[in-house]
Amino acid sequence: MVIYFHKVGVLMLSNIHTHSVFCDGENTPEEIVLTAIKNGFVSIGFSSHAFTDFAEPFGVDDFEDYIKTLKELKNKYRNDIQIYVGIEEDALAPIKNRNAFDYIIGSHHYIKLDGKIYPLDIEFSTYKKILSLFDSSERFAENYYSTFCDYILKYNPTIIGHFDLLTKFDEQDGNLLLSDERYNKVAEKYMKVAIKSQSFFEVNTGAISRGYRTSPYPSESLLHILKKENAKIVLNSDAHVKENLSFGFKETKELLRDIGFKHTYILYNNEFIKQEL
Ligand SMILES: [Zn+2]
Ligand SMILES: [Zn+2]
Repeated sequence: MVIYFHKVGVLMLSNIHTHSVFCDGENTPEEIVLTAIKNGFVSIGFSSHAFTDFAEPFGVDDFEDYIKTLKELKNKYRNDIQIYVGIEEDALAPIKNRNAFDYIIGSHHYIKLDGKIYPLDIEFSTYKKILSLFDSSERFAENYYSTFCDYILKYNPTIIGHFDLLTKFDEQDGNLLLSDERYNKVAEKYMKVAIKSQSFFEVNTGAISRGYRTSPYPSESLLHILKKENAKIVLNSDAHVKENLSFGFKETKELLRDIGFKHTYILYNNEFIKQEL
């Protein structure tokens, strides 16, 4: 790759968590690329959901077609933007050909209990039903985070996606988890486990853009732990529409600065480089 026209260090826009018509996103990859170019992005990464045999049928199972399409775009727009081919895999369904991708976002979207699998982040009603299956928020969090961390330590995804997705509906019905000290203790304990993986942690604004939350994942208390432990972070918008490629970045960068972060990482020239905040 020969793209060296950006002055490294100067504000460089990038987002590598995007969904397109290859999964549950609204736009074609080319529409997303064109929007990113128009908005001055230096790099953009695609991260369609990988297929899982237990979930909604929107994941990519034909990796060949997906990769081929994105590589064609990468070549077509090589003078305008860097394009990366990633995938968002689920903790309960790790993909096999891991080397086929520039990076893997590892996320946990389901709760597995007594042999059944429930989608965590689709609807508030389903979420409440899941919550009612557990005696306490602690047990719920234990189930979620222990499964997630087992996966993280075993598969080492490049990036850990929306670490505390189970708090997605927290603002919908009073504070369900985040104001519960017992929950926070469990979350903090497992975040320290996940940090051992050396994976990048994603700071994800997706739920803000969709109106569920007013703050990014992970929660502020978890961000403080990431800072304290010197974990590396990547800012992503988890965009499902092209208008949201950098949704909430400005406010989130402010929050990160307030917490004490000096930089995030972006994918550029095939490596993760520091981007000053
Ligand atoms: Zn996700
Ligand atoms: Zn996603």
